[in-house]
Amino acid sequence: MKIPFADLHIQYVKLKNEIDAAINNVIQDLAFVGGYNNKYVRSFEENFAKFLDIKYCVGCANGTDAIEIALKALGVGTGDEVIVPAISWISTSEAVSAVGAKPVFVDISKSDCTIDIRKIEEKINKKTKAIIPVHLYGFSADMDAIMQLAKKYSLLVIEDSAQAHGTEYKGKKVGTIGHIGTFSFYPGKNLGAYGDAGCLVTNDDKIMNKARMIANHGQIVKHQHEIEGRNSRLDGLQAAILDVKLRYLDEWNQLRRKNAEIYDSLFRNTKIEIFKAQTGTVPVYHLYVVKVKEREGIEKILKENNIEFGIHYPTPLPFLKAYSYLNHSTADFPVADEVSKKIISLPMFPELSKEDIVRIGNMICK
Ligand SMILES: *Cc1c(COP(=O)(O)O)cnc(C)c1O
Repeated sequence: MKIPFADLHIQYVKLKNEIDAAINNVIQDLAFVGGYNNKYVRSFEENFAKFLDIKYCVGCANGTDAIEIALKALGVGTGDEVIVPAISWISTSEAVSAVGAKPVFVDISKSDCTIDIRKIEEKINKKTKAIIPVHLYGFSADMDAIMQLAKKYSLLVIEDSAQAHGTEYKGKKVGTIGHIGTFSFYPGKNLGAYGDAGCLVTNDDKIMNKARMIANHGQIVKHQHEIEGRNSRLDGLQAAILDVKLRYLDEWNQLRRKNAEIYDSLFRNTKIEIFKAQTGTVPVYHLYVVKVKEREGIEKILKENNIEFGIHYPTPLPFLKAYSYLNHSTADFPVADEVSKKIISLPMFPELSKEDIVRIGNMICK
């Protein structure tokens, strides 16, 4: 029997009545666009801010835009350098280049694949303006160490929390610790829309205002364009759907953690290496990733048994063609290089059954 990598259909069937009603309401109200002035958008923004325990949430079109708008709102641009981890989805570094700044890559930690805080300081110089830690796979980066460095060198911190809706760091939700937190609501994320969507969050009302303006053509009041912005609004349908799904996020994250525990217990004392969340953090397992020695063999077993898997990510960012101009060699990022050759992401979603996890585990432990 096929085991999917993620299953958005089960979730829809369960919430069909609520989601269909939410979609219907938006259509009845013709509340399609409008950003902040759309009541569905405003409701979701308020509820998501409440969920995170932060003052402001600004919806936007997707998680990549969220990072770009965050950088612009903080005044990062041409000539600036921004520190990013060597392994992430490309959005993290793409957004830096999009505002005219230069991405400066830092190697990752062996234990959880988040940015290696011991290797950040050597990359800081006069041009460094910001750090974007990524809470990869739903693990929290070491935020105390990052905020300490930020304070020491007067740097801005944007937490790329696209894979970490609800992840906790010392009792706080990630995304609320730096100057801005950014989220993606791409359908497959822990909190996913039915299309592209994203947001940024902050406690600072000046940053919130600036971000809101940038995301909506530089206006807060219609036709009063205080600056040139862009069009990156969260739409009514996505907001209404997200508002329904947000009510289940804690429960889903809990189930993901339970599933990860079952996987972890199967892999202890085997040739499969597991990653470990830092002490004081509560991960949300957007992905369940392990390290294996003979990845091709494992891939073959999974394929033969009709079990979907992924690799997140097969090439560290600095080694992509897009960044060949930086002339990096594998020796510059030894951990990212090693990890990217061994990682494999196994099926992970809240409704994944224990039987299926045990089946997958036993199959690849052999
Ligand atoms: C998904 C993701 C993004 C981008 O989100 P989109 O909504 O697809 O633009 C950014 N960073 C990370 C780490 C992601 O996983």
